[in-house]
Amino acid sequence: MAQPRIIIVGGGFAGLAASKALKNAPAEIILIDRTNHHLFQPLLYQVATSVLGANQIGFPIRAILAKQKNTTVLQGEVTGVDKNKKCIFVSDADRLEIPVPYDYLILATGATHSYFGRNEFAKFAPGMKSLADAEETRNKVLQAFELAEAEEDPSRHRDLLTFVLVGAGPTGVEMAGALAVLVKTTLKSNFRRIDPASARVVLVDMGPRVLGPFSEHLSQAAKQRLEDLGVEVRLGHAVDQIDADGVVVGGERIASKTVIWTAGVAPSPAGKWLKVETDRAGRVRIQNDLTVPGHPEIFVIGDTAVFEQDGKPLAGVAQVAMQQGRYAGQLIRSRITGRKQPAPFRYFDKGTMAVVGKGFAVLQSGKVQMSGLVAWIIWAFVHLQFLATSGLRLSVFLQWTWTYLTGQRGSRLIVNHHTSESLSTAVGGAARG
Ligand SMILES: Cc1cc2nc3c(=O)[nH]c(=O)nc-3n(C[C@H](O)[C@H](O)[C@H](O)COP(=O)(O)OP(=O)(O)OC[C@H]3O[C@@H](n4cnc5c(N)ncnc54)[C@H](O)[C@@H]3O)c2cc1C
Repeated sequence: MAQPRIIIVGGGFAGLAASKALKNAPAEIILIDRTNHHLFQPLLYQVATSVLGANQIGFPIRAILAKQKNTTVLQGEVTGVDKNKKCIFVSDADRLEIPVPYDYLILATGATHSYFGRNEFAKFAPGMKSLADAEETRNKVLQAFELAEAEEDPSRHRDLLTFVLVGAGPTGVEMAGALAVLVKTTLKSNFRRIDPASARVVLVDMGPRVLGPFSEHLSQAAKQRLEDLGVEVRLGHAVDQIDADGVVVGGERIASKTVIWTAGVAPSPAGKWLKVETDRAGRVRIQNDLTVPGHPEIFVIGDTAVFEQDGKPLAGVAQVAMQQGRYAGQLIRSRITGRKQPAPFRYFDKGTMAVVGKGFAVLQSGKVQMSGLVAWIIWAFVHLQFLATSGLRLSVFLQWTWTYLTGQRGSRLIVNHHTSESLSTAVGGAARG
């Protein structure tokens, strides 16, 4: 008898955990992702601020699953699902909307950034969700210092060296802290005409405090730490406008050439593909076995789903995605092998952390709350543990140690081929003209 086919869409935290839980299962597993790599999103801000290189937080999915003989990895973009015919539609560089049949389907397609209906902001304030986003942000940040050094009119330096981060959740706070450290340490002695330490880092949020999901006490500790690092924290006002000249917050314009969006997220369109009930944000409402109502063969997990536990929706974090992935894999495995099925899914919250500059983090786990160096060491070890391979763990550990001791960063290159080409064409054109 032919083995059942399990299609997993997405090789992020949820999809990868699901495929690993199906290791050695008597099934044909196909994992499809539109990129060729698994990405450790919690460290994207370190690529954006030059601490780490892209290859230290991303790793080819097929290399991670190389020893899992029952699993085939395909690169392609899933564009739809036909629930009745039990097939998905996949496009790649060569072919469009190819139907691929499944017996079980796990949708783990994550989320993207949301501009809360103001999509026109995207042009001026890139978000951070992919390696390309993080490298684009790094290019923008480093380019701002290059432009300021070349600019002979000192009155323009302030605009060029003002960095505005919109959104004071964990990503905004971590990014603001890392930027403040970058300008005060690594870049300090590298410029002649400008003082990088004079750069302004402004963190804005419409909420009343930074790190909303943390306790008030830890949120206050993180804010204090940011201010000690020189970050201007502006709370309680929404961003009214973002354009080429900066942002308008609470009626006041902050002139800036580098605005970074670290606010809301929007789920992938899995809910639209399936035509099932979603919450207001568009996340698929799933049952307590992580399937969608009426379709025990379709699982939706991770950031693209909403699961209510004890009357509250679970947060869109890596731990939820991994635990759901593991559960979905185990449940399918028990079904196809006829073994006892696991009890309904229940999330076990191990706690949450955010780092604020060098040697300082906040940590909240049950009744335990701490901030400072010890929390930062725990943060570092937990993050190392969850990187995809032992090679990445070693590489990141060595880089962090080097950066901690010397202030030197892993990747300070501006790699933007299109800009260089258009610049040289423009310069060449101007010279010829
Ligand atoms: C900047 C940033 C910082 C974060 N920091 C933290 C943190 O400190 N701690 C924490 O716990 N969480 C953090 N998170 C959240 C955490 O990363 C997510 O909750 C987690 O990645 C969700 O896992 P997932 O598998 O659902 O989605 P993802 O990890 O996003 O994976 C989704 C995968 O699906 C693929 N995909 C999407 N659409 C398609 C399609 N149509 N066809 C094919 N493939 C597709 C994508 O390429 C991707 O590989 C952070 C997120 C970001 C963006």
